[in-house]
Amino acid sequence: MDEIATAPVQAFQASTVKTEQSFIDYSRFSKWTRILRTTAYVMRAARTFEDKGLHSCNESATTELAGNNMIAAKNFIFKQTQRDSFKPEVNALTQNKRINTTSRIQHLSPFLDEDGLLRARGSLEKSQLDYCIKHPIILDGNNPAVHLFIGQTLKYNQHSPRQLSKNILQNEYWNLCVRAHIDKIMKNCYDCRRQQATGLQPELASLPAFRFPEDKPFPFQQTGLDLFGPFA
Ligand SMILES: [Zn+2]
Repeated sequence: MDEIATAPVQAFQASTVKTEQSFIDYSRFSKWTRILRTTAYVMRAARTFEDKGLHSCNESATTELAGNNMIAAKNFIFKQTQRDSFKPEVNALTQNKRINTTSRIQHLSPFLDEDGLLRARGSLEKSQLDYCIKHPIILDGNNPAVHLFIGQTLKYNQHSPRQLSKNILQNEYWNLCVRAHIDKIMKNCYDCRRQQATGLQPELASLPAFRFPEDKPFPFQQTGLDLFGPFA
């Protein structure tokens, strides 16, 4: 019985614990929250398997996810998307080499933080702002997970106008192609379209016939103007 119980644990560890490999296909998801929670559950289960073995899995699966589980899952997803979109840059920085001058993010002076996330160095390093604002996480909007994250941020901020949504997103994340993705999301969002809709302009109607008397065809024929001085 013990042999049967331990065999799947080894197989699971071999396939999932190496977090550098992407084991979730983000293009199969339609909601950011579902990606986040799925990743958080898988990471917590993998950690539990590592620490305590298979028998502790049933216990942890019934408890709610904690805040640190969600933060770890979010960082993990962003790290995966960065490895997918900026693999040469990440490899170069890992080996302490300069990134290619033709890179899309070369102008951001990217660096890897202690968690392995790719961040922009920016020009605010000596300011008193928070670390995540001074050095925003670099994301590629073309990645399916990042696209869903942008959509979730828009929804969370009550379908704000385009520029405000962009500012909110750019506060902590440096999104490439963010404007195009915001436009695309807004175009497919009923609430955004309804909020940005302009009022229907009524068609200009013809003036009634009594406004055009035949004996007074010119304007100001019935209008007088008295002038009073002095004119100095
Ligand atoms: Zn919307």
